[in-house]
Amino acid sequence: MAIITPYNHTKYTSPIQELLETVSLYLHIPFCHTRCHYCDFNTYAGILPLREPYIRALLTEIELAGQLARRAGGTPRRSRTIFFGGGTPSLLSVAQVTRLLNACRKAFAVDEDAEITLEANPGTLSFEQLAGLRAAGVNRLSIGAQSFDAELLNTLGRIHSPAEIAQALRNARAAGFTSINLDFMFGLPGQTMRHWQDTLDQALALHPDHFSLYSLIIEEGTPFYTWTQEGRITPGDEDLCADMYEYADERLQAEGYKNYEISNWALPGHQSRHNLTYWQNLPYLGMGAGAHSNFAGRRFSNVLDPQQYINLLKLQQRPEAESEIIDRVQEMSETAFLALRTAQGLHLPTFEERFAEPFASFAGNRLRTVEEAGLLEQEDGWLRLSKRGRLLGNEVFFRLLPD
Ligand code: SF4
Repeated sequence: MAIITPYNHTKYTSPIQELLETVSLYLHIPFCHTRCHYCDFNTYAGILPLREPYIRALLTEIELAGQLARRAGGTPRRSRTIFFGGGTPSLLSVAQVTRLLNACRKAFAVDEDAEITLEANPGTLSFEQLAGLRAAGVNRLSIGAQSFDAELLNTLGRIHSPAEIAQALRNARAAGFTSINLDFMFGLPGQTMRHWQDTLDQALALHPDHFSLYSLIIEEGTPFYTWTQEGRITPGDEDLCADMYEYADERLQAEGYKNYEISNWALPGHQSRHNLTYWQNLPYLGMGAGAHSNFAGRRFSNVLDPQQYINLLKLQQRPEAESEIIDRVQEMSETAFLALRTAQGLHLPTFEERFAEPFASFAGNRLRTVEEAGLLEQEDGWLRLSKRGRLLGNEVFFRLLPD
């Protein structure tokens, strides 16, 4: 038996073929109170009245997806994780989340101990709601904190204060959540190293179980893009971002958080099982407007517009907008470079078991230069980026892309 995910909640020892028979479920909730200034996700402000029709459409899509994913013989497909992402899933009522979870449990064989995550905005969370979500079966909370600096939160266009982040985390603990992630961003306009250190200090004082830290990326079409073009804001430069990343890594590791993927740190037993699905290139079905799926040799995505999504589902039509076949070579290449983003790296015997071909024969000479440059290291059957390789990961990744 190959050990696939030694960082997981439960020590997972299923062979890769068994994992490939499972599916992770992602439910997209495209509602926000207001749009943050940097955000280019498929989410909308001012359409809250669509919430109920949207939930009904999502319930229909879950049922259709369950049929699509049925195994030979007609039994429902096993699911190990469910993730409510957005948008702002915490804008849903407990009753709406409960209906969606019940639909998932009906359409799929959801594990008793499945990891069920909900993304939450600290400006939208009450204790009663958190207690209700916990009772409904949500067992992991991912809180979009972004910064503990009030001025920076304002620059970002966030609707919450630093005090609300702390309150949300305390409420979540009191409501029984034992697995909580905090998201933060660095490289923000006007953010100094001191701001970043203060944010991490305040975050660590709250003892979350998991951190996701992202450097700001200025996306076209956002207010931040326009303001950068106009010279009104200046994001942190590359050197400052690298220093902030390095500082965070050292600080979090010293506090017992393991950097298990480039942007993610967790206390033992708190790695995100759902996100590991993506990094292990395992099947997932995304449901909701604009959601992406990777299932049965195809990658596909839904229509972006929530109203169009609702209209299609009313007619019992699958809302797929784009689709691409993933051939074997592409799957091999993606499996390798996604695994190399993680700290544990690529498990070579598992790769061979999955594709009936050794990684060395697939890679041929492609990686020779980066191996000679010391960007990769191998130990006990695991191939991973070296410390230097982690700073130059793209040099490795592009060599793995199909010709
Ligand atoms: S809350 Fe999240 S999804 Fe909504 S606008 Fe802000 S960054 Fe985007």
